[in-house]
Amino acid sequence: MDCVIALDAGTTSVRAFVYDLKAGTFVHRAQQEVGQSFPKPGWVEQDANEIWYKAAYCLNDCIDFAGAANIAGIGIANQRETVVAWDRQTGAPVCPAIVWQCRRTSKFCSELPEETVRLIRERTGLLPDAYFSASKMKWILDNVPAAQRLLREGRLCLGTVDSYLLFRLTEGKSFCTDHTNASRTMLFDIHTLDYDGELLERFGIPRGVLPDIYPCDARFGEAVAGGARLPVAGIAGDQQAALIGQAALSCGDGKITYGTGLFLLFHTGEKCVSSDGLLSTVAYTLNGRTSYALEGSVFHAGSAVQWLRDGLEMIPTSAESERIASSVPDSGGVAFVPAFTGLGAPHWNSDARAMLCGITRGTTKAHIVRAVLESIACGARELLDCMERDSGVRLREIKCDGGASANGFLMQLQANILGVAVNRPSERESTALGAAFLAAVSLGEMGEEEIARRRTSERIFTPARDRAPFEALYRNYLGAVKRALYRPNSE
Ligand code: ADP
Repeated sequence: MDCVIALDAGTTSVRAFVYDLKAGTFVHRAQQEVGQSFPKPGWVEQDANEIWYKAAYCLNDCIDFAGAANIAGIGIANQRETVVAWDRQTGAPVCPAIVWQCRRTSKFCSELPEETVRLIRERTGLLPDAYFSASKMKWILDNVPAAQRLLREGRLCLGTVDSYLLFRLTEGKSFCTDHTNASRTMLFDIHTLDYDGELLERFGIPRGVLPDIYPCDARFGEAVAGGARLPVAGIAGDQQAALIGQAALSCGDGKITYGTGLFLLFHTGEKCVSSDGLLSTVAYTLNGRTSYALEGSVFHAGSAVQWLRDGLEMIPTSAESERIASSVPDSGGVAFVPAFTGLGAPHWNSDARAMLCGITRGTTKAHIVRAVLESIACGARELLDCMERDSGVRLREIKCDGGASANGFLMQLQANILGVAVNRPSERESTALGAAFLAAVSLGEMGEEEIARRRTSERIFTPARDRAPFEALYRNYLGAVKRALYRPNSE
C-alpha cells in the first residue's frame, strides 16, 4: 500500500491528509471550517452533523486523490472532551455537541463533594472541571428530553467526537473510543484502563450509553467512504496524537503546542505520575504497552499575540511580533501575565486577570511586545518545573509545533528559559502526522521504531551558555504572576 489517511477533527476545522508511506510526507490535504455557536455567556456548542459531513467531504476528497486501492487505512485524531449525543438507530445527533470550552457545568463541578473530588483525582488523573466530558454528559441526561426518551428506549449513545465520527463512518457498526479520548471523560480509570463504576454512578451515567474502549492502535471498524471500505486503524485525542507525530515516545520527551493556548505534554514512560496542578493522562497505548503523560495547559498564548494585533493594534500581524520584539535587547523590566480568563495549570485560578507591570516612562511598544512573547515562554517553564519536580524525570529536549512555533525569536527564548534545546519539525501538522503514524503502525505498514526516523527536524534552537539573564527574567515574570493572583477585595 502507498498511503494512509489522517483525519484531524479539530475545534475550528476538520482536515484530512494523505500520508505517502514511501515519501514519508503528506501529499494531499483537504480542509473545511467548522462553525461554533455561543447561545449563552460561557456556553460553546457545535453541530455534530456538520462535523460529520465535513469530515466525510475531506475524506472523500483524499480518497479521490489517492485512489481507494492505494490506501491502507485511516487514522483519526480529534478535539478532546467535546460530547455528542445521538440516536443509535439513525446516527442523528439529539442536541448540539457540548464543546470542551463550554462552562455550563462549572457550578456543578465546583460543588462536587470532597469524596468525588478525591475519586476523580486518584482514578482519572484529572481535576474536577467542566472542561471534561462527564458533567457535560450528565447535563444532557438531565436537560434534553429527546436524550431521556432515547435512553428509555435503549437507543441513546453518548461519546466524544472520535466515537461519533467512527459510528457514522462505519454506518453504525462500531461504537468505540480509544484510551486517550476515554482518559479525558473523567469517567475512566487510567490505571485499570476501564470506566470507573463508582464515577459512572456518581454522575448518573449508565455504562450502556457509552462507547467501548480500545487501545489507540486497535482495528476500530471499516469505514464506508468514497465508494470503498477502509479500516479505521488508529484513534487518539489531538494532543496525544501530536506527541506521537513529534516522535516524543520515550520517558523525558515532551512537546509544546503553541496555538491559541499552549499545551505541554511530558512523557513519563509506563509509569503514571501525579502532580499537583497538572493532569495525568494516557499518552497512548501502542503495541500492547500503555504510556502515560503529564499535561499542562496555559489558556492564552498565541491569543495574547492576537490581542496585541487586534485589541491594542500594536502590531500589524502576529508574525511581526518577532521583528518588533527583537528590536530591543530586553523588555526593560516590563512583565506580562496573559491571565485574560484566569490562570490554568499550575494555578487553576479563574479569578486572576491579565497583568502588565514594570512600565516606566522609557517603555515602548517593542518592550511590551517582547514581554508578551516572554510570558508565553515563562508559562511553559512554570509547567515544566512542576513536571520535572513531580516526576523526578529531567526533560531532554522539547519538540514544538502550532502556529506560534513559527516565531524564531520565541523558540530561541524558550530554549534559553528552559535550558534545553527546542526542536522544530519540518512537518508542523504534528496531530495529523500522529494519526497517520498510528494507523500505519497498527496496519503493519511501518514499525513503531520507524516513527522517530520519519519525524525530521527543521531547526534546533540550543540554549544560551549564560542563562543568568533568563533566570532573572523568569523571576520577574513569577513576581507578576503573584500580582495577577492577588485580589484585595476577595480577602
Ligand atoms: P489553533 O490551532 O489554536 O487555532 P494555531 O496553531 O493555528 O492555533 O496558531 C494560531 C495562533 O498562533 C494565533 O493565536 C496567532 O496569534 C499565533 N501566531 C501565529 N503566527 C505567529 C508568530 N509568527 N508569532 C507569534 N504568534 C503567532
